[in-house]
Amino acid sequence: MHAPASRSEDKTHKVIYLDNNATTRVAPEVFEAMVPFLTEYYGNPSSAYRFGKLVEGHIKEAREKVAALLGCTPKEIIFTSCGTESDNMAIWSSLQTSGKRHVVTTQVEHSAIMNQTDTLERMGFGVTRLPVGPDGTLNLADVENAIREDTGVVSIMWANNETGVLFPVEEIAALCKKKGVLFHTDAVQTPGKMDLRHVAKSDIDLLSLSGHKLHAPKGVGVLYAKRRTKVVPYVIGGGQERGKRGGTENVASIVGFGRAAELALERLSDEQKRVRALRDRFEDTLLQRLSHLYINGRRDQRLPNTSNIAFDFVEAEAILLRLDLKGICASSGSACTTGSLDPSHVLSAMGLTPARARSCVRFSFSHYNTEADIDYALEVIPPMIEGLRAMSPLNADHPDNFNYDVEAAREKEEKLMAQTMASINE
Ligand code: PLP
Repeated sequence: MHAPASRSEDKTHKVIYLDNNATTRVAPEVFEAMVPFLTEYYGNPSSAYRFGKLVEGHIKEAREKVAALLGCTPKEIIFTSCGTESDNMAIWSSLQTSGKRHVVTTQVEHSAIMNQTDTLERMGFGVTRLPVGPDGTLNLADVENAIREDTGVVSIMWANNETGVLFPVEEIAALCKKKGVLFHTDAVQTPGKMDLRHVAKSDIDLLSLSGHKLHAPKGVGVLYAKRRTKVVPYVIGGGQERGKRGGTENVASIVGFGRAAELALERLSDEQKRVRALRDRFEDTLLQRLSHLYINGRRDQRLPNTSNIAFDFVEAEAILLRLDLKGICASSGSACTTGSLDPSHVLSAMGLTPARARSCVRFSFSHYNTEADIDYALEVIPPMIEGLRAMSPLNADHPDNFNYDVEAAREKEEKLMAQTMASINE
């Protein structure tokens, strides 16, 4: 897809954006805070003259604002290039500083952890990936039993990006502390949706954040490292970030992160009340209007903004294509695995059959979603699903039959989609 040539072209595409776990819009306030650092104040923060020192001062301010989000001190904040880098750094650094060779994690982590631990395994490190139950939750006894003499770090996400399911990371952190093992959490999906101001008081040693999940730009991340937690750089270079992360700072984005952290705190109650109410109305209405619908993860154990829904008898890809044609953005799996035909590793770990896992769509809401967005989505989705089910080889005549031929169904669906696209383009 090409970038819009002009603003007017942009306006012809009304977008109902219900994919806020994939990324979020940059808040106008964030953009405004960033602009001077892309135009006027372009000095290098490491330079000794005042033009550089001024920029350094703004990084300091941003660090204080991010620290306020976690209730920690600015010295505990390390700016990185993204959530993935923060995750990679946390694990790598923990293994380096502990000198140990085993990692405990879960089967439902983001690819930033999944693929890194796969790589570590190929390098000869040991990895234990804990299973989850049908509701996506984790058994604490499994965590305790998995910790070995040679465990260097336990890394367990706070909120799942696909389902929104939350893990009791503070309890797990306390357990790890008792066992003398470092604990890292990928908290990329949590800011603005959960109150994190007690993080510094918890036993969490390391925690990852990403700018573009909280209305700051893409390409900036944070690693929180609790006071006295030894950290070695993952990106090795100059002495930036007190020697913990080399590379000239992405000043504008760091300033944007700081402003976004402030906004996340200001808007926390909106996200927890209004956005939650939008999400709950969305789910309740769909449950009333459609049969054979399952919501993954218990509502009281999920982020307030996330709905992951199985629309039995229909392939998610068919739903997403049609939603796209109606201007609605949602997703199946995580944005980082889009295009993969394999069912989501998260939903598979929760025990969903491949057929049901392939019918799941994630809707994720934000501060910028309105009642009108939900009304529109609720107007579009039920007839769309009914239409797709009427054409599906796995239709309501056989509601409990999941032994259908997925390939044949997909072929049929692709043909139908090609016909639909052809009629639209006529
Ligand atoms: N961890 C989780 C839970 C995520 O949802 C994401 C992004 O989708 C990441 C890590 C990676 O963050 P980034 O895109 O900034 O590398």
